[in-house]
Amino acid sequence: MLVQFGPDYADTHHMRARPRRQTLDRNSADWGIMLRSLTALWGLGGASFILVLLTNHPQSPGAKTVLWCINIIGLAVLGLLVVARDRLPTWTPDLCAYLLYLVVGGVIFAFQKPDSPFAFFYLWLSVHAFYFLPWRRAAPQVVFIAVDYAVSLAAMPGSSFPYMRWAITVMTTAVICTLVALLKARVDALVTRLGEVARTDALTSLYNRRAYDEFVLVEIARADRTGKPLSLVIADLDHFKWVNDRFGHPTGDAVLRRVAAQLVKTGRLTDVAARLGGEEFAVLLPDTDTESALVVAERMRTAIRTTFRDNPLPVTMSFGIASYPDDGGDAETLFRAADGALLAAKAAGRDQAVVFSRGVKRVLPAPPSM
Ligand code: GH3
Ligand code: MG
Ligand code: MG
Repeated sequence: MLVQFGPDYADTHHMRARPRRQTLDRNSADWGIMLRSLTALWGLGGASFILVLLTNHPQSPGAKTVLWCINIIGLAVLGLLVVARDRLPTWTPDLCAYLLYLVVGGVIFAFQKPDSPFAFFYLWLSVHAFYFLPWRRAAPQVVFIAVDYAVSLAAMPGSSFPYMRWAITVMTTAVICTLVALLKARVDALVTRLGEVARTDALTSLYNRRAYDEFVLVEIARADRTGKPLSLVIADLDHFKWVNDRFGHPTGDAVLRRVAAQLVKTGRLTDVAARLGGEEFAVLLPDTDTESALVVAERMRTAIRTTFRDNPLPVTMSFGIASYPDDGGDAETLFRAADGALLAAKAAGRDQAVVFSRGVKRVLPAPPSM
């Protein structure tokens, strides 16, 4: 029976959930955790550094003084990270990392030991950088580490340059950092995909109710900012129960997919089409007044009619239209206004588009009491 309603859902790409690239700025979700982990690493590094200083004695004269100076600078940075956390610039993690590498190089030199375990500290903020920062900001840090470590080893008097140690340390840092970056890229892709799935209707691939609820707030805020109107069209299939009853649920599903494809095809790229549930859809039309929204709804109504023209049961759709801010001053009242207009379209005989008006208000259901 499925074939009676024609080919399945024609793939449509606009008006659907799309992956978003994550960037690290103060408003991004990663910023807080990046800053907290940076502060924790810096604090922990400082603490272990003081411990080493208290129990070890650098051999070169004056080195201890230099090391204590480094410690004071480290404490000052830690204080800044804690106190000015809300005002720190976006390059804070880069600056901290380069500062740490310079300190590590300086300490390795001060202790005059080519096999100094301090080289492990290079890993701390480079791994952190490869997890939180984009490649183009993290990769130069490995080059910097290679140079910094080479300089501190080469500056040590009396011993030959430990090529093997230098190469293995730098290579190990590069490998661990690359693996961490790859892992982060996979996690990001997974999070984006899960976000898409959570906001997409599985049957029609349109946005779902959750996504609609997010979009309507975004579009209302945009309309407030730009002063341009925003229209909402709510559409509901007429007597859809009959289609299911007569041809079965799979055919009903195929009809829903084709209806979704038509709504998308008829709309503009900036419109947001969502399946609210069952056989009810919403199309948000930014920068569109009531008259233009009526034209769009009529175009959609005709497209649905034409699509199912040759089918054994006619499939038609009713539309309710309301505009922000005239018909509803927030998401909920706008929705109720469009839904009221849809009820009026049903009451008037279905297969038509009705614009919200005072007359429609009379058939509106009373708002739920709190
Ligand atoms: P009206 O013109 O008043 O809207 O009548 P209607 O029959 O379309 O409305 P009603 O609310 O009585 O029935 C809606 C039907 O939509 C009932 C239900 O079986 C069907 N439906 C809801 N969700 C789905 C779905 O995911 N797939 C299918 N095939 N049918 C669905
Ligand atoms: Mg219906
Ligand atoms: Mg319905």
